Amino acid sequence: MSATPAPETPPSTERSGEPQSSQDPAPAAPAIRRARPRSRIGEEAHTKVVATIGPASEGRVGELIDAGMSVARINFSHGEADEHRRRADVVRKEARLRERAVAILADIQGPKMRMGRFAEGRREVEYDDVFTVYQGDGVAAEKEVYFHFEGFLGAVKPGHRLLLADGAVEAVVEESFPDRVVARVERGGVLADKKGVNLPDTELAIDLPTKKDVFDITVARQMGVEMLGISFVSSAADIQRVRDLAPEPFIVAKIERAIALERIDEILKATDGIMVARGDLGVEVDLEQLPMIQKALIQSAMREGRFCITATEMLESMIHASRPTRAEVADIANAVLDGTDAVMLSAETAVGKYPLEAVEMMIRIARAVETSQRYHDLPRIEFRKSEPTFSNAIAMAAVQAAEALGLTKIIAFTETGNTVRLLSRYRPRAEVIALTPHLRTLNSMAVLAHVRPVLYGRDQSLEDMLWNASLFLQGRGLVKGGEQVLFVAGVPPGVARTTNVMKLHRIGEPVRFH
Ligand code: PGA
Ligand code: MN
Repeated sequence: MSATPAPETPPSTERSGEPQSSQDPAPAAPAIRRARPRSRIGEEAHTKVVATIGPASEGRVGELIDAGMSVARINFSHGEADEHRRRADVVRKEARLRERAVAILADIQGPKMRMGRFAEGRREVEYDDVFTVYQGDGVAAEKEVYFHFEGFLGAVKPGHRLLLADGAVEAVVEESFPDRVVARVERGGVLADKKGVNLPDTELAIDLPTKKDVFDITVARQMGVEMLGISFVSSAADIQRVRDLAPEPFIVAKIERAIALERIDEILKATDGIMVARGDLGVEVDLEQLPMIQKALIQSAMREGRFCITATEMLESMIHASRPTRAEVADIANAVLDGTDAVMLSAETAVGKYPLEAVEMMIRIARAVETSQRYHDLPRIEFRKSEPTFSNAIAMAAVQAAEALGLTKIIAFTETGNTVRLLSRYRPRAEVIALTPHLRTLNSMAVLAHVRPVLYGRDQSLEDMLWNASLFLQGRGLVKGGEQVLFVAGVPPGVARTTNVMKLHRIGEPVRFH
């Protein structure tokens, strides 16, 4: 068997996002012959992988799940509702076949700002060039640029930066008028049709959710997605407006605006999780600030008991090549060390040539880090600083007891997943087996680091819960007879948010409380 040669195409240097499927169809994923047996498949990492489903992966969802995908991301910035529904159906079907918990993340576009068009689709600008910005979707004449969104006229002031084409060009405003803005180029580059605009210095009265968002959120809700990604969040109020529209799914606040960094505390309180959306964030803040911002965001999320997804360009070169760069490998390893719950693939799996290899690569890197001493020696969230609730007290105690006894399994019964989220944030050395009777809770927990969600019915009493679950987990090979484990539960059973019991237990011993 011969190794698959790497294709010649060089990776694009520009941030590619996910090209629209209609304009830039990926070649149907080639049947790639493998040089090595898939020995690592089936092994799991504590850190989770989010993979974007697109033309390159929609026919290979089952393989992605086998390789370790825990969250399937559907990008609502591209494509139509029917396409999203079709992809969600495939994810549900393949996950069910494998009895695997897989969450669907509907990523909602938000108020993405874009330019209009240019003659010949593009224009190169140089240092010191002066141009005038108008509002609209027209084709810009020489020394003109269109912004295809409202609300910037009047808000953009002299001295404000205009970042164009996803940061490729930087200009500074010299004069602003009611109908136009005049700017001078500070850093030259290529402008092109419909490319992104970022205005890091400008307070815009932008509506979130947009009209398109409201429609897309309705579609996503009908699809029963477990998570909604909300782009360009700038406040807790933004999140609340989305929650009012869609109370069921977890909200993932995408942190990609400079203003969101300033309001991170209120955003963390309002959201279920965050995404370190390094693409747009890397345009709004100086690039060299990104690594430390990433670390701070992950730490803050953990402290608050929120999950965190680290995203964008993680394996960018694998869009074209079967192996990543060393720098990309190091980036993923560092995100795992930072404590992220999940790492995300965008174009790599949506339109790339090696979607499966990209997921496998992430799992392998995560495992290599997680099995290192350095990972286990990381400072954990301080127990003393956390909130005074029964659930949290039990979560803390369970993690400490498991460490003290060297247990490898914490088994948690959960209705909402709330206690499991709290267990997860302490990143226990033991795996958290999260038993729930609810499909939504089951799938939602798939994003949490160190958690293995398992569907399990409800029992009438605590005795029955522990006894029956032990048998069930033994049957599935998840625990062994005689093994010491730790149970976390709420009594009476079946009531949400009542976690109040922790039981050290030897599998197979009788369970009697009277
Ligand atoms: P996007 O979000 O790919 O939907 O723009 C992620 C990012 O900006 O990094
Ligand atoms: Mn973005």
